[in-house]
Amino acid sequence: MTMYAPAQSADGRPLVELREVSRSYGQGGPPALAGVDLRVAAGECLAVLGPSGSGKSTLLHLIAGLDRPTGGSVTVDGLRVDRLGEAASARYRRSRIGLVFQFFQLLDDLTVVDNVLLPAQLAGLPRAEARRRAAELLERLGIARYAGTHPGRLSGGERQRVAVARALMNRPALLLADEPTGALDSAAGDGVRELLAGLNADGQTIVLVTHDLRLAAACATRTVELVDGRVVRDAGVAA
Ligand code: ADP
Repeated sequence: MTMYAPAQSADGRPLVELREVSRSYGQGGPPALAGVDLRVAAGECLAVLGPSGSGKSTLLHLIAGLDRPTGGSVTVDGLRVDRLGEAASARYRRSRIGLVFQFFQLLDDLTVVDNVLLPAQLAGLPRAEARRRAAELLERLGIARYAGTHPGRLSGGERQRVAVARALMNRPALLLADEPTGALDSAAGDGVRELLAGLNADGQTIVLVTHDLRLAAACATRTVELVDGRVVRDAGVAA
């Protein structure tokens, strides 16, 4: 479906490439990440698994340009994310990345549709076009009837749908999700698992970090497991 088709990276190049990536916090403790090599091709849904403290969020933050490695390189969609200055990094997140968090991070003062429109406004998309896209996304994600509602009135599962719609607004090459089902009950979690699996089936490249093995089973085309900041397992998941 063209609506969700990601921007493709140049032929043969992975969409995401981490080379020898390390992240230390300089307090004499063990590094959060230690020499991680990882490639993600366009169209994959990669689930990063591992125990608490194994470096999953750090990895996601490095890919999103929210943090910088202390060693190695992070390339996404042809951009050296680890070398971007603050303004370029914000532009990168706005134009190429969609971010989904455990606790949604919606603005409760804005309506659902205005939350979803926000990334388009920041990117300067013409208003009519942005409204059209927001309406399509709300429809596709089954939350069109809440367009004028404030997110605080919605259930967790509905809020996460709004957050996913917002993340998709600018047609990101890469959707990043940090424990997207972590705050949801079982039924709402199922809805979000199916939603993410459907987006990936439609061509959206996704990297998610999670403890949720059901999410990995529903969505991931591949899983990697981190332990103590290292990749200890990298495996495809049978469809
Ligand atoms: P996970 O997401 O797998 O739970 P994290 O990436 O959050 O793991 O953390 C990996 C390691 O880095 C942990 O030991 C954590 O305590 C440490 N860490 C994360 N953020 C910071 C920080 N800002 N300052 C110091 N240590 C940190």
